[in-house]
Amino acid sequence: MKKIVITGAAGFLGSHLAQELIDRGNKVIGIDNFSTGHEENVMELLRHENYTFLKFDVTDPMVLELDELFAIEEIFHLASPASPKFYQEAPFETIAANTIGTKNMLDLAYREKASFLYTSTSEAYGDPEIHPQPETYRGNVNTWGPRACYDESKRLGEVYCYEYFQRYQIQAKVVRLFNTYSAGLRNDDGRVISNFVTQAISGEDITVYGDGSQTRSFCYVDDMVSALLLTMKSEQATGQIINLGNPTEYTILEVANLVKRLNSSNSKITFLPLPCDDPKVRRPMIDKAKRLIKWEPKTSLEEGLQKTIASYTEKRMEVQEKVVQS
Ligand code: UDP
Repeated sequence: MKKIVITGAAGFLGSHLAQELIDRGNKVIGIDNFSTGHEENVMELLRHENYTFLKFDVTDPMVLELDELFAIEEIFHLASPASPKFYQEAPFETIAANTIGTKNMLDLAYREKASFLYTSTSEAYGDPEIHPQPETYRGNVNTWGPRACYDESKRLGEVYCYEYFQRYQIQAKVVRLFNTYSAGLRNDDGRVISNFVTQAISGEDITVYGDGSQTRSFCYVDDMVSALLLTMKSEQATGQIINLGNPTEYTILEVANLVKRLNSSNSKITFLPLPCDDPKVRRPMIDKAKRLIKWEPKTSLEEGLQKTIASYTEKRMEVQEKVVQS
């Protein structure tokens, strides 16, 4: 049994990862300050004897003094707001989580001789001029815009990993996550899948920003969790940056129509202005992941959306029942 730390443990990805690690017989210490994570995402896990949750901010240097963080073997550092809506509401917190928070967790990895995985982002490529994006592409990020707090701080987090790997031989692995979604994603995070599914279920207009010709590639959470575990296990991934995501690309308008069809929804599609610096295209090259960690995603967008729609519909009915009972 390994003792494993997950930061950002109350986020949708962190909570799915924690569940999988526990199911595989590990002891998990989850850390989150609930800035964007949800208490509801850890409630189920708290019932498990091998799960410990700490409400703590990873940017606080006292994090290194926590008793629970001694004798750990692995750190998955996920903590950071990730939805444009949330990181733009909290730019300074976002910058701190990815820089100071990453440094604190690397210091922990150094002290504990622990393996370290940092979740960077496809946003490191900004509005890409090369398509699809290989890890060698250095990106096209605007430092003077609303996405910069996330994009540039994630990039600086990568730099911290590089320096700790080079200077202190930390077993650091950097993964750049492309758009990921799940059945358990909180409904108000403003990201496209949660917005479209919520809108389609409730019969509201589906809000496409711009003309919907911009593209994204969507990875279902189960595929992403298995990629994170394989990366952590792989010696070859140490000191590497690896793209993780589903390489099947859709326009946002196609996603709107797919959600509408799968949900047999009467919602209308409406068009709203495109946000500033919204990347026009995004699709990962995943040859490196295939080679180093022998991974590729298995879940199609249609299949993942069906699960997501079912889960959102169930939650909505639970809420409606509670309202009727009260
Ligand atoms: N988007 C949209 N309608 C929405 C939310 C998002 O058309 O209600 C678009 C957004 O402009 C972007 C894409 O969907 O082009 C993905 O947005 P998201 O916020 O999920 O993440 P991003 O990939 O931009 O970080």
